[in-house]
Amino acid sequence: MSAPQLSVVVPVYNEEAVLPALFARLYPALDALQIPYELIFINDGSRDRSLALLAKQQALRADVTRVIVFSGNFGQHRAILAGFAHARGARLVTLDADLQNPPEEIGKLLAKMDEGHDCIGSIRDQRRGDLAWRGWASRALNRVRERTTHIHMTDQGCMLRAYSRRIVDAINQCQERDTFIPALAYSFALNPAEVVVRHEARAAGESKYSLYKLIRLNFDLMTGFSLLPLQIFSMGGILIALLSGLLVVYLALRRLLLGPEAEGVFTLFGIVFFLLGVCLAGIGVLGEYVGRIYQEVRARPRYLIAEILEGRREP
Ligand code: UDP
Ligand code: MG
Repeated sequence: MSAPQLSVVVPVYNEEAVLPALFARLYPALDALQIPYELIFINDGSRDRSLALLAKQQALRADVTRVIVFSGNFGQHRAILAGFAHARGARLVTLDADLQNPPEEIGKLLAKMDEGHDCIGSIRDQRRGDLAWRGWASRALNRVRERTTHIHMTDQGCMLRAYSRRIVDAINQCQERDTFIPALAYSFALNPAEVVVRHEARAAGESKYSLYKLIRLNFDLMTGFSLLPLQIFSMGGILIALLSGLLVVYLALRRLLLGPEAEGVFTLFGIVFFLLGVCLAGIGVLGEYVGRIYQEVRARPRYLIAEILEGRREP
């Protein structure tokens, strides 16, 4: 395979139900672009028949297909990072395996790139087939991220995105373990743009993200791109200390002038519990950063590759 113009990276985790439909639409959509392309699937430790399906497909289209096989489940973003590391194309497009991002829209992203943009984000025209709370949570988190980081993305959750070779190379230089690729790419982009893309319901199977995994991912985004959560607690702590200092002075004067007071015990409980909650949340935020530092200093590999299926193989 000589350097293709386009690398398409697709992470796959337990997607046996949807892979046949994906192959049936993705290859024709890419062939229709009439440019040399390569397709990189990353099997992220699937425990179903995904790997067998990918291997079969790789043999069928060995001219353009590679499969990176992870030796365990390392998560969507690490899978995509492996795709970045192995991509040879002048441009790179990421795509979910579940057909929520229609492969026919890739051309639209590339056309936008032709206008001179190096990083193309996408906005889902409408979220189809996702649970309602995910739409609300996603919009709320979008707003929080918009305010706390310097990253401007209308729709952070859509993974149908295109990157120039310069951005791919920049991301490949990053060593961080847990990251959020669209945000990382955005921080390197000189001239980013966004296009509206169609969004579909998952073609088959179910979402691989539990509420817990979504919360973890959003912590990666917040801690990876902003120190504001820490600053909120240090500034808030200073403010609370000042206010409590005033309260102590007031109570001392009151005690001298009017005598001791015993009422308001439960108000006191209320205030103490509230402040305890604030403290625990602060320690938690600190822990999110410290835990990540710990992971970084241990410097274990981000992922382990068991094998790479490429070219024509012996049956
Ligand atoms: N995925 C992955 N590893 C994981 C979880 C997900 O490679 O640990 C892949 C999954 O196969 C899919 C993409 O990431 O191609 C997005 O996952 P999903 O559609 O479940 O997320 P949602 O659309 O619900 O946010
Ligand atoms: Mg999906």
